[in-house]
Amino acid sequence: MRTDVVVIGGGAVGAAVAYFLKLLDPSTEVSVVERDPTYSQASTPRGSGGVRRLFSLPENIELSTFSMAFFDNFAETMALDGVKADIGLKKNGYLFIVPPSARDVLKRNFDTQRRLGCNVLWLEPDGLKQMFPSMNVSDLGAAVYSPDDGWLVTRSVLMGFRNKATSMGVEFLADEVVGLVRKGNSVTTAKLSSGQQIEASHFVNAAGAWAKDICAMLNIPVPIEPLRRFEHYFESQDPIEPLPYIKDTQRLAFRPEGNGYSGGVPTLEEPRGYNFDVDDTYFERVVWPQLSHRFPQFEKTVCKGTRSGLYDQNDFDGNVIIGPGADGLGNFHMLAGFSGHGLMHAPGCGRALAELLLKGRYETIDLTRFGWQRLLDGTPIREQGII
Ligand SMILES: Cc1cc2nc3c(=O)[nH]c(=O)nc-3n(C[C@H](O)[C@H](O)[C@H](O)COP(=O)(O)OP(=O)(O)OC[C@H]3O[C@@H](n4cnc5c(N)ncnc54)[C@H](O)[C@@H]3O)c2cc1C
Repeated sequence: MRTDVVVIGGGAVGAAVAYFLKLLDPSTEVSVVERDPTYSQASTPRGSGGVRRLFSLPENIELSTFSMAFFDNFAETMALDGVKADIGLKKNGYLFIVPPSARDVLKRNFDTQRRLGCNVLWLEPDGLKQMFPSMNVSDLGAAVYSPDDGWLVTRSVLMGFRNKATSMGVEFLADEVVGLVRKGNSVTTAKLSSGQQIEASHFVNAAGAWAKDICAMLNIPVPIEPLRRFEHYFESQDPIEPLPYIKDTQRLAFRPEGNGYSGGVPTLEEPRGYNFDVDDTYFERVVWPQLSHRFPQFEKTVCKGTRSGLYDQNDFDGNVIIGPGADGLGNFHMLAGFSGHGLMHAPGCGRALAELLLKGRYETIDLTRFGWQRLLDGTPIREQGII
């Protein structure tokens, strides 16, 4: 079998790039190889769905701005046969809170966000208390509120992209890539577990937390590691005013969900690996102390459910690796290493990689700095003050 582009991995990221390839050039033949169409371990359905413009790097801010506008119109854009693709978008805002020691960094990031046209609001602790009277602000130095951000239903985003891409002619194969054949500076063929082989002009590594296994098929080391993270569901015993998605630099991050809240405390201390075990003590040990410190209404809260999921953690600098260049390969494209913000950047990065493949350059957002070259140069590009 021969096609133009093979996308390895059909999560939100792989489905997004497939959609944009077809959108930009309907004559492009695209095959997405996804080994598990139920997505039982994929990161996309296990994510929290937060979408925010609160970054320090212009690229990440622009990606979020693009994606948010895209999510605004997602239901109509991805509609099929008149049925809208609802993604449960809740634009209830996103709030970053920091201790006094991180005020300067937050201010610099805030200035960058404003310069790039984001609707963000600087809050001193008094103003924060007025806006969210239940919050303990005694140890906080400042906050930035982004009222147009929020969260959405991650599986619906994935299925919206997937169903629309399919309707445009993208083929999703329920199969597993088990080998890649290299000739000179090109990959020529993907070998599948069914025995099928696909030749193509381009190959995209959108395997998320499994991206390093795909690179290993070409003997290419990559600093992307699976990093376990817990998402907990909990309720408060007393009412709290409506909250945005809240993230503090102690890493507590949570948002309203149904009758309660969804969130957790991710940590980079976690050993890397494909570990989905749930640590039933984590909420009481790590999350609850931070929650009850911030809102007294959580004093008697217990965890009602925990699920685990994997970040595709880029241990080099915490940002996506996009495009060609790995070991000199010109047609093997990375699209992984999102390190916890892949869902919100799937539209922007999907479009960017489609532009690069079809037109040879970025047209919407210049993501050159997120390319493989920075690994060769040893120059990480890190977010400032944001984990
Ligand atoms: C708890 C948690 C909270 C998160 N919160 C947020 C958030 O608030 N906002 C945000 O933007 N992001 C968040 N993320 C991150 C986000 O979920 C991911 O960055 C995003 O879903 C990555 O999408 P993906 O398509 O790259 O990966 P996945 O959804 O994992 O898809 C990769 C696919 O590749 C397939 N695959 C792997 N190897 C092969 C192979 N050899 N052959 C064929 N198929 C293969 C897998 O089956 C899988 O379906 C969170 C993640 C977790 C775990």
